Amino acid sequence: MNKLEVTICGCGNGAHACAAMLSRQGHIVNIYSPLSDEIDLFKANYEQNDGLTLNIGLGNIAGLGYGMCGYSEESNIEMETYKGLKINKITDRAEEAIPGASIIIVITPAFAHRDILNNVKNYVSKNSVMVFLPSRGGLEFEVNSIIPGANVVAFQTLPWACRIKAFGKEINVSAVKNKIQAATMPKDLSPLFLYELEKLLGLKIERLKSMLTLTLANVGQIFHPGIMYGLFRNNPNATFKEEDIPLFYQNVDEEIARILSNMSEEIQSIACVLSKYDEDVECDKVLHIKDWLMASYEGVIEDTSTLQKIFNTNGAYKGVKVPVKKLDNELYAPDFGCRYIVEDIPYGLLITRSIAEMVNVKTPAIDEVLRSIGEWVNYDYLGKLKEIKELASKSRLPEFFGITATKEFI
Ligand code: NAD
Repeated sequence: MNKLEVTICGCGNGAHACAAMLSRQGHIVNIYSPLSDEIDLFKANYEQNDGLTLNIGLGNIAGLGYGMCGYSEESNIEMETYKGLKINKITDRAEEAIPGASIIIVITPAFAHRDILNNVKNYVSKNSVMVFLPSRGGLEFEVNSIIPGANVVAFQTLPWACRIKAFGKEINVSAVKNKIQAATMPKDLSPLFLYELEKLLGLKIERLKSMLTLTLANVGQIFHPGIMYGLFRNNPNATFKEEDIPLFYQNVDEEIARILSNMSEEIQSIACVLSKYDEDVECDKVLHIKDWLMASYEGVIEDTSTLQKIFNTNGAYKGVKVPVKKLDNELYAPDFGCRYIVEDIPYGLLITRSIAEMVNVKTPAIDEVLRSIGEWVNYDYLGKLKEIKELASKSRLPEFFGITATKEFI
């Protein structure tokens, strides 16, 4: 087998999982992060463990801290374990990690994409491809402003439900998705890249014609803010003892399922209107969340009779808890500063909401979620969006073109 050199950008859950799985297949795997502290820690722990340990199974995920968004510490699943999986380079220097890699896989929350792109931009070659696992919304604007012309494959979600068990040492992968949508830049990027990625990631890729479809098809923007809103809409100030921290997906009730379904239908309407302006936007590829769940988790959902039951009985979601923060009095409160909000609203739902306004689609369910969570975190998402839109029509601020720092400005 020909080996590929793959550089993974990021040091989080998905990066650990991807590094371990590709190393297990015999590829040359590098880990890169511009954050020196985490690279030092990763290297030290990796060396102490003599490689990465991968636990792969289906269902619940073991040994996870509360700092992570929404995962449980319970463990009730059999996992296969692979030890001593080797990484070629672990580095905070893009010049060491990027030039030799034919595939550069970025696995970070979307709020880190700009930082990664700025750090790697001078080393990405025309022959390589950048893969974003996942892209979330609006990635094309950021890539075009920082590395115009880059070859990109952008995925709609992460292929795995995964959590770090011990940083730099051990990763748990609870479930692998069957099929994922992806779009490319340029849109006619050679199918060879997708063919290789299917083999590498062990899944089917459904190719979309447009990055815009991907922005709308992102279900994280519905699930995460939508369920947080639904669970706490009557009491955002709730507190719990450690043993009472609520389950995230298993607590979706009929009303929450209805709210999520309405959000999903609103996004489908945006896609359908957009497809009239741009034939590359594929309205039928922006799936209703029920269809998305069935396509992604076929075989691990016990009861498929209603949307509520699909959430409640999905084996990959079992034991996932609400993201919480610890209070001074030993109690826990819902963490509205976690990735489910700070990634999935500004890099997801708010972008979709902005597009809705441009194409004149009303979004009452999405607005209710944004308005309420905005009140809880004291950030008026809808008001700020309105102000920015107004300013954008009257100004050429460098910020509107992705220029925010002296380096970019000069
Ligand atoms: P994570 O929170 O574990 O990633 C953290 C890593 O991102 C850090 O270790 C660092 O390497 C990088 N990072 C963060 N801020 C940065 C910055 N400012 N500059 C440079 N790098 C920075 O994330 P994850 O769990 O690996 O998830 C990655 C993506 O996949 C996210 O978009 C997430 O929503 C999505 N996702 C994850 C899961 C899962 O099971 N973990 C499931 C579905 C989707």
